[in-house]
Amino acid sequence: MINLPFNRSSLPPDFKLLSGPGSVDKEAAHWILLQGGTVLLRETAGNLALPCGPLPVQPSEARPLLTFANWQGMPVTAVQLEVLTAVPEGLVAEPFNAFQERIPDSLMTIAGLGKQLLHAERMTRLCPRCGANTGSLSDSWGKVCPGCRHESYPPIHPCAIVLIKHNGKLLLIRKPEWAQGRFSLVAGFLDVGESLEECAIREAREETGVTICNVRYITSQAWPFPSQLMVGFTAEYAGGDIVVDGNEIADARWFDMDNLPDLPSRRSIARFLIDSCLSKSF
Ligand SMILES: [Zn+2]
Repeated sequence: MINLPFNRSSLPPDFKLLSGPGSVDKEAAHWILLQGGTVLLRETAGNLALPCGPLPVQPSEARPLLTFANWQGMPVTAVQLEVLTAVPEGLVAEPFNAFQERIPDSLMTIAGLGKQLLHAERMTRLCPRCGANTGSLSDSWGKVCPGCRHESYPPIHPCAIVLIKHNGKLLLIRKPEWAQGRFSLVAGFLDVGESLEECAIREAREETGVTICNVRYITSQAWPFPSQLMVGFTAEYAGGDIVVDGNEIADARWFDMDNLPDLPSRRSIARFLIDSCLSKSF
C-alpha cells in the first residue's frame, strides 16, 4: 500500500479513530486547535507536537469540541477557534496546509482528520431535507434528522488527478492563484453521471485542450482541505494542441522530465505521481 500523508496508514500505530463522536475531557486530552489557516502546536527544541493535558484555551459555546480518537491513552479532541483568540503562552500558530514542511506527516494526518471531521459536523448539523437540527447516528459519523429520519454522512468530494505523458514529457498546468512558476497536474471535481476516468479525460480537455487515452488508476489520497478524495491516474497523450482559457488555467506546457518547473508539495498525490513517473515506477 502507498503511504501518503492524510491517509489513515500515516497515523501513528497506537492511534485509534473512534466510530463516532466521543466524550470530551477538558482536563486531559490531545488538542487539535485550529485557527484560521493555522494549527496551534507546542514547540520543544524545534520539535512540534500537539498540546496535551488541560484545554489551553476557552473557546466560545458556538465552537463545539469534537473528540474523534484515542491516542497514548488520552482522547484526541478538535476545535476551530475564533480567529481573534490570543495564542496561549507556550504554543505557536503553524500554517496548516500541505506545503508546510515543519509539521511531521503523522501529526499533519491527525490534525487533518480532526479538521475534516469538524467540517463534516458543521455540514451535517442541519437536515438537508427539512432544515431541522440533526442528531448523531449511533456508532457513526453520520447524522439522522429527528423529524423526517433523513440520514446524512460526512461529505467527501472525489477529484480525478492525472499525470499525462508523451515522448518523455509531462503535461503540466498552472492556475493563476498558484505561486509564481509552480506547475502541477490536470485535476478536477467529479461531475454528475461520470466515472473517474471520464472525469480525468474531461478535465484534460477542458484545462489543456488535449485528448488523452489509456487512463489508468494508480492510487488515492484523502485531502482534508476541506474534504476531498484525490484519485490519481496516469494517461497517454492521444491528440490535440494545447489551448488554455487564461481564466481558470493560466498556462499549460509540455515539460521534459529532466527539466521540470517548481512542483507541488511532496505531501501531495500530484508530486507522488510525478516522482513515481520519474523513478520509472510506471
Ligand atoms: Zn429532516
